[in-house]
Amino acid sequence: MKSHDEILQGAVAFLRDEVGPRANEMDMDLGALKWALDELCGRNLMALRRPEEYGGPGFSEPMFREFQEAVARYSGSLAFLQTQHQSAVSMIAKGENEALKKEALPKMGDGERLIGIGFSQLRRPGPPMLRADRTDAGYALTGSVPWVTGFGLFGEFLIGASLEDGRAVFGVVPFVPARRGDGEIAFSEPMRLAAMESPQTVSATLTGFFLPDEDTAFIKPAGWIQNNDMINITLQGFFALGCARAGLDQLMAAYEKKKSAFIKEAFDKLDGELAVCRARTIEVQESGDEDVTTDEKLRIRAWAIDLAVRCAHAGVTANSGAANSVRHPAQRVYREALVYTVSAQTTGIMQATLERLAGRGQVKTP
Ligand SMILES: Cc1cc2nc3c(=O)[nH]c(=O)nc-3n(C[C@H](O)[C@H](O)[C@H](O)COP(=O)(O)OP(=O)(O)OC[C@H]3O[C@@H](n4cnc5c(N)ncnc54)[C@H](O)[C@@H]3O)c2cc1C
Repeated sequence: MKSHDEILQGAVAFLRDEVGPRANEMDMDLGALKWALDELCGRNLMALRRPEEYGGPGFSEPMFREFQEAVARYSGSLAFLQTQHQSAVSMIAKGENEALKKEALPKMGDGERLIGIGFSQLRRPGPPMLRADRTDAGYALTGSVPWVTGFGLFGEFLIGASLEDGRAVFGVVPFVPARRGDGEIAFSEPMRLAAMESPQTVSATLTGFFLPDEDTAFIKPAGWIQNNDMINITLQGFFALGCARAGLDQLMAAYEKKKSAFIKEAFDKLDGELAVCRARTIEVQESGDEDVTTDEKLRIRAWAIDLAVRCAHAGVTANSGAANSVRHPAQRVYREALVYTVSAQTTGIMQATLERLAGRGQVKTP
């Protein structure tokens, strides 16, 4: 049996040696992304937070974060795709449906069952976008899911729908068009996106689609997603930190070619700032909720986002005109920084990001 450290080191070596060199291809070609997903499944790396009793390895949060950051460094598309399934693993494992846990979790590490997530609709204010009405032995789901990633790659997804009393019910539904009685689930065409298009993000429309109790994972209290977003303010920042590192890799690659001292100076400054931002993000993530204010967490997330964009931009700058080629990794990383700016965004994160961007002030000219 491999130790957690051996699993992590093996995963990072695979990402660095095999995924990194193919990242541009994976960004543009579904087949190449599918190859990487199959490799992660073949290495049993798709359920890293799964408790031991369902097959493990039960990574601690710090180890899992390190993995997520490494995937984001070597391929944004793979990071974005696999994290949906890894989230489904964690959420199902924390749920109350023991039979579902016993059935699904042992199959989720090696790809036998691949499950995406679709619950960002719960963030939207106003009337619920997706409603769950209680029926005999389950729920009828009606409405829409604006974002679900992994169409054609995952067979199912964990959906979140609002109950009349404000709670939200979560359950596993097919990620292929399906009918159950009079009810139906249908999907849009994969979205054309500026970045991370290959993971195939779609929207879903449900009309009275039946979710049986046996596929229901758990019910969350009203306001759960807002609470969860608070906990995740800094956690999601690790993707941005991985992306910042990817930008610095591009800067270093340019330095190795051009040997200009100012490129190395820029690298050293950004590298130093990234180390401080990363250390602070880890510190805040590991501190108790009462020790750090929400405003401070938001400022740190905004810093990580800003740093990802600046490091990616530095990578583009130093690689000159070549970086404008669709095949150049520096511009792929720049586009990936865009996704980390908005994914799992809340109003607070949006505000903190804009305040940081608008607060840089004017440069004094002589
Ligand atoms: C490429 C891509 C793939 C994704 N894939 C998935 C996926 O697989 N699964 C998944 O669950 N999510 C997915 N997401 C969702 C992602 O996490 C969302 O970007 C995030 O939830 C922000 O939602 P939104 O962009 O739809 O913005 P909004 O829903 O508009 O929300 C942003 C913030 O603004 C607030 N807000 C919105 N409208 C108003 C208003 N009228 N008044 C006041 N406040 C308002 C919201 O409450 C929220 O806090 C994906 C996103 C992208 C870009």
